[in-house]
Amino acid sequence: MTGIFIALGTNIEPRYEHLQEALRLLDHHNDISVEARSPIYETEPVGYTDQAHFLNMVVRIETSLEPLELLTACQGIEQQLGRKRSIRFGPRTIDLDIIMYQDAIIQTDVLTVPHPRMHERAFVLVPLKQLAPDVSVPGLDKTVKNLLEVCSDHEKKDVIRWNKTDLADA
Ligand code: ATP
Ligand code: CA
Ligand code: CA
Repeated sequence: MTGIFIALGTNIEPRYEHLQEALRLLDHHNDISVEARSPIYETEPVGYTDQAHFLNMVVRIETSLEPLELLTACQGIEQQLGRKRSIRFGPRTIDLDIIMYQDAIIQTDVLTVPHPRMHERAFVLVPLKQLAPDVSVPGLDKTVKNLLEVCSDHEKKDVIRWNKTDLADA
């Protein structure tokens, strides 16, 4: 038993409100319930680095939706939050990625599960570990904890616990 996990990321202000709104829309979806949420982390952008810091978190959901239906639901929420697709890996009001869907291994043009880059991303693994340290990632047969151990210190140090009170410093 692994669970269904979604990673959320935002780097356009108001970042905290974008996370809250995405969580609200997820949980209000008739066929989705948010069962657990990780703490929020503030992270350095990876890839396209000339952009603002992200807030990232991971949630565990329960859903009767099939993986592709879940992707459509996530993309609907991204649209509702006004996401514009321009620069790949660039700034976004909200990004919702399906990280794992139970034991499913899916490779289609529109959906790859587990998420193909999750194992190398501290900004996914650090929050995911808070919810599911011992879950084995389908296809990799390593636990979340193990994957994080081999993740570079350089990446891990750029993922820092964030609190709503940090808003006061902004
Ligand atoms: P990355 O996938 O590296 O995190 P990104 O999130 O910035 O990059 P997007 O522009 O949000 O990329 O998505 C590009 C496409 O990825 C989507 O249109 C979707 O079809 C596809 N995709 C494939 N696998 C997944 C997945 N597990 N979760 C969400 N989208 C996925
Ligand atoms: Ca993403
Ligand atoms: Ca995405």
